[in-house]
Amino acid sequence: MHPASKYNEIRHHVFSTYHKYNLKTALSVLQSRAPELYSAKTGYVGLEAELFFYDKERDKLDLQATLDAGDKCDFTGIYKDKHARFDTTTNIDYKSLEDYESFQRTGRPYYLVVYDRKRQTHRIIDINFPFCPDCKGRMIDGLILKEIEIETSNLTPHGSTMQTLIRICTKKPDYHNFIVGDYYYDLDTKRTLEFWLKEDFVDAWDDDDFKKMIVDQRKKWTINHNTYLRKLGQSLTPNPLGFIGEFDYWMFWKDKGEYYTKIVWTHEMLENYFPADMELYIDSI
Ligand SMILES: [Zn+2]
Repeated sequence: MHPASKYNEIRHHVFSTYHKYNLKTALSVLQSRAPELYSAKTGYVGLEAELFFYDKERDKLDLQATLDAGDKCDFTGIYKDKHARFDTTTNIDYKSLEDYESFQRTGRPYYLVVYDRKRQTHRIIDINFPFCPDCKGRMIDGLILKEIEIETSNLTPHGSTMQTLIRICTKKPDYHNFIVGDYYYDLDTKRTLEFWLKEDFVDAWDDDDFKKMIVDQRKKWTINHNTYLRKLGQSLTPNPLGFIGEFDYWMFWKDKGEYYTKIVWTHEMLENYFPADMELYIDSI
């Protein structure tokens, strides 16, 4: 039997066992049949991930196991009020956005389900980036942090940020881009402190212990800061947020310089297009 037919036959056996009995019995069937798979280890791990995801989400997402017919889709279901397709994996490094392109062009939303065996949890990753109307690229929404203003009144720091949501093409970012909107946000005291500590005001302090503490904590704060901005950016668009950038200034001659955007966070499926530390020069912002 062809390895793909064998795989499908075992998958069918495992899922029908699940329906007839339960998860535990289905898992023991999978275990007993794993040696028949082309790659016993990866085949086992992949089907186990599918089973766990199905068991946890079948009612909520109205999941149906599909035939594995080479369309990168293990299940169909309803997600965010729409028909959706799900591809499960235990290692996102083996997945690339291009794999889904031809199927997504037909208008069907696709989601990646990344299963973590150690924690027995999964994440659903939105990969439905719209296509560029002018070329074969994808249009990616990115939040660019432009300004942070900090004031102190009664020894309580108060801050606000100004940012731009931009939509930008993966293939021709310099030409195919436009501004979705500019947004201005007040920050609470905790966020203001995070932003403040992220800036280099710290150097003004004489206390070495204090400085050391800040340097040690800075990485952690930076992560929090990005998480906060991701939530903020995602709330502004129905598309998956693709990256976060921060404005920086580059002096190229005496007092002359220009602003550019430095990428500080990237959606995990876009690392080929907008890697961390990448510098973007966009005229319109
Ligand atoms: Zn384009």
